[in-house]
Amino acid sequence: MTTDQDVRPAAVEVHGAVKSFGAHTVLDGIDLTVAAGKVTVIIGPSGSGKSTLLRAINHLEKLDQGYVSVNGEPIGVRRLGDRFKELPERAILAQRRHIGFVFQNFNLFPHLTAVQNVAEAPVTTGAATRSEALEQARALLAGVGLADKEDAYPRQLSGGQQQRVAIARAIAQRPGVILFDEPTSALDPELVGEVLSAIKDLASTGTTLIIVTHEIAFAREVADEVVFLDGGRIVEQGPPSQVLDQPRHARTREFLSKVL
Ligand code: ADP
Ligand code: MG
Repeated sequence: MTTDQDVRPAAVEVHGAVKSFGAHTVLDGIDLTVAAGKVTVIIGPSGSGKSTLLRAINHLEKLDQGYVSVNGEPIGVRRLGDRFKELPERAILAQRRHIGFVFQNFNLFPHLTAVQNVAEAPVTTGAATRSEALEQARALLAGVGLADKEDAYPRQLSGGQQQRVAIARAIAQRPGVILFDEPTSALDPELVGEVLSAIKDLASTGTTLIIVTHEIAFAREVADEVVFLDGGRIVEQGPPSQVLDQPRHARTREFLSKVL
């Protein structure tokens, strides 16, 4: 798989992130640093706040406290002394372009072919001409093993193929970081491997990736850092050899015994 050499992988920092829905505190003070070019895998039980954390990094969710920074630039909420100031929506949209997002349910445009789905963002943002974007989209589809599916509509593709189109689409945006929210959990088991393999290829290009997944074997292979989230807090984090193979906390051990 190819990515443009001029795309700088982003470092991502989350500082003191707090988010509540009503009385329910879903993120309870999250501090997370992801170095540029590294792969972080987030694991944790259902309801622990994993999706909310990814959505907050991408401004789909507004934090109550704390902030996120991408390449040192605070986004969403900016710290001003001990206060926080919200960035205008326009700035949020501009900065969201540096963040790719791959969803559990693919979220492709149903009325666009595979190649049109991948070319859409670069054309809309003016990053490329239509013909440049289409050429790049074809190369990216070939990179995820879909050279022969360029003109297929999402409904004509398997879930695994749709998710590989979604990965190519995220890369086409040339983001500094790509977030994955359970990218394989909507797939039939026999289609999981092809998607994980596309993500593994992407990881080897040095793109910053933050991946929420229950695929523990994959996490062991691809992660530089594994984060175990429970009840909106980071319980434990470290290299896979530590968190997955020698967890220090009982809650981590209990969770792993259920998913392994
Ligand atoms: P995970 O991805 O780890 O399963 P989520 O981040 O999706 O967890 O959700 C964490 C908790 O926040 C869950 O209890 C969920 O029901 C709640 N939640 C998430 N989004 C909303 C929302 N928009 N309104 C109310 N509650 C929400
Ligand atoms: Mg989730």
